[in-house]
Amino acid sequence: MLVDKLLVNIFLVFVPLLVYSALSDHRHMKHAPLLMGGVLGVSSVLCIVFSYIWYGLYWDLRYVPLILSVLYFGPKAGLLNITVMVLARMYIGPESVDVGLLSMIFCYLGPLLARKKFVQLKGMFFRVGINMLMSIWASMVMLSILFIHSWVNGSLDKDEIELIKIIIGFGVIQFLSVGASSFWMEFSLEREEMRRKIRQAERINTLGELAASMAHEVRNPLTVVKGFLQMVQPELEGKNRRYIALALAETDRAERIISDYLSLSRPQIGQTELMDLSGMVQQIVLLLNPMATKQGVRLYTELKNEIYVYTDRNQLLQALVHVTKNAIEAAEDGGRVYITLIIHEEKACLSIRDNGKGMSREHLDRLGTLFFSTKEVGTGLGTAVSFRIIEAMNGSIRYESEPGVGTEVIILLPLAQESLLAAEG
Ligand code: ADP
Ligand code: MG
Repeated sequence: MLVDKLLVNIFLVFVPLLVYSALSDHRHMKHAPLLMGGVLGVSSVLCIVFSYIWYGLYWDLRYVPLILSVLYFGPKAGLLNITVMVLARMYIGPESVDVGLLSMIFCYLGPLLARKKFVQLKGMFFRVGINMLMSIWASMVMLSILFIHSWVNGSLDKDEIELIKIIIGFGVIQFLSVGASSFWMEFSLEREEMRRKIRQAERINTLGELAASMAHEVRNPLTVVKGFLQMVQPELEGKNRRYIALALAETDRAERIISDYLSLSRPQIGQTELMDLSGMVQQIVLLLNPMATKQGVRLYTELKNEIYVYTDRNQLLQALVHVTKNAIEAAEDGGRVYITLIIHEEKACLSIRDNGKGMSREHLDRLGTLFFSTKEVGTGLGTAVSFRIIEAMNGSIRYESEPGVGTEVIILLPLAQESLLAAEG
């Protein structure tokens, strides 16, 4: 009897995971906590319905969906899950309902407290480990409550050996079910992430081809327009002269956007040359200082000299200008942007830190995706272009950010031999 019910329970625990896999083909399920909370809640309830009743208590795998819903879909999903479960449990039978409620609440609180750590962890095994730890927590809660319950009712004197055997067996099954289902979740999430990346790569590819053919076509007439505007500007006065200045500024902007699209279509590194990074950073500061001053932002630099890299100067300049510009734009009036350059683990390490508005976890995840912008006049090209350029240079770019505190961008680039010689000499 026990085995039958357990098998049904195991089946029930896996049904929501199948639902998840099926639905996530069509939409981003991580952002549907209530739907998943509901589905997992129903699974918990069905587990209760197919409980093994023993010692006046319900034995089932209801906590497996609960743990998954809190850890993977957040407190709201967990709350919905537990609410559905409590209602069902009250409806099914008044028998030791107080004990049931108490253990449900404790089993909800455990994963809730562990969630913060869980979201921060990246490794699959660590994340599955936290899930399994939570199943041990659930077993401990149930065990303690069972002992208290039996002690109050004085019913724990007969088959102690058998009791312990069943509790251990049940705990092991719960442990394994949580492990297997969280592995399943991890694989589904990984698959989802991979699909997202493929979609993005496809989009960039088509876009790249389109951009390559269009950018050249648009660039030529633009250059002609710009040339004529520059020619007539000195001859005009007053209002008209200002209009031409505006038109020129806008053609500059259009040119920059075009060159961003061109870098997307061919992120390969062109001509490489030996260059001094601190010189380039100084150039960027010179370039962006007017813009920063206009916004009331100050730029500070702390640059180690003689850090050389072999790379395509224009591409790197483009990437760094984008990143620094974003930092200036994020820092509000009175804000500061610090640029530091050091050697770290035989790499050139450039840090661009601002005390601006920062980014939430969700924003950070979307960073580098084409057209992602939170600005009214943003193009959402800057970080996508910078990511591709830095990666093409065999470098890496990493963002650390906290909303309301600021953002730090850390760019690592392979050093040229010359810097190591300079450092030694
Ligand atoms: P755009 O600047 O045109 O919006 P980007 O690709 O350069 O496009 O940046 C995308 C988004 O990333 C920005 O709209 C902004 O929300 C966010 N972002 C980038 N850098 C920072 C930063 N240093 N601080 C806060 N948000 C940032
Ligand atoms: Mg930008």
